[in-house]
Amino acid sequence: MGDVPEPMSSVTGELDTMVEANERWRAGFAVGALGVRPVKHAVILTCMDSRYPAAAIIGYELGDAHTIRNAGGRATDDAIRSLIVSAHALGTRACIVIHHTDCGLHRQTNEALRGKVKEATGQSAAHIDFLPFADLEESVRDDVEQIRACRFLPEGYEVMGMIYDVRTGTIIPVDVPEHAAS
Ligand code: ZN
Repeated sequence: MGDVPEPMSSVTGELDTMVEANERWRAGFAVGALGVRPVKHAVILTCMDSRYPAAAIIGYELGDAHTIRNAGGRATDDAIRSLIVSAHALGTRACIVIHHTDCGLHRQTNEALRGKVKEATGQSAAHIDFLPFADLEESVRDDVEQIRACRFLPEGYEVMGMIYDVRTGTIIPVDVPEHAAS
C-alpha cells in the first residue's frame, strides 16, 4: 500500500472536466439497448484496484457480467448479498473470484490499518475487520470456499478463483472446478 501521497487537486472540483469527458463518452455511446441480465450469467468478484478493468482481462464486455469490487475482492457479507441478488433476480449462475498481485491488503494487518485510522481521525476502528491476508493464493481459496458454502445460491452454482498479475497482465487459475465428462 505504501504511504498515501498528498492529493494533487480536488476531485470534486473537477466536475467540468468530468462533464466534458462524458460528452465524448456519449458521442460514441452504443450500448443503450443492453439488457439488465448479464449475457454470460456470471459475476466477477474482484478488488477495487485501479490498475485493471475487471471484465476486460478475461475477455468480457459490457453487459456480460456483474462486477462486485471491494478492497481485496473479498467474499464479505455485502459481496454475498450482491451475489444472491444477482443469482435470483438477474439470473447469474457463476462467480469468478479474482485477487491480484501487489494488493493493498496483502501482507497488511488489521492492527496497522486500525492504527492509520486512529492516527488520521482519532477514532477507534477496532470493530472493523479489514480482511487483510498474508497469502494471496490462500485468500482466493478462502473466498471461493466461502461462496461455495453459501446456502442461498442456486443448485449447480459455479465458483472459480484466479490471481491477476498487475505487472504482466496475466491471469493465473487457482481454484477451478474440474468438469466431469457427462
Ligand atoms: Zn487489491
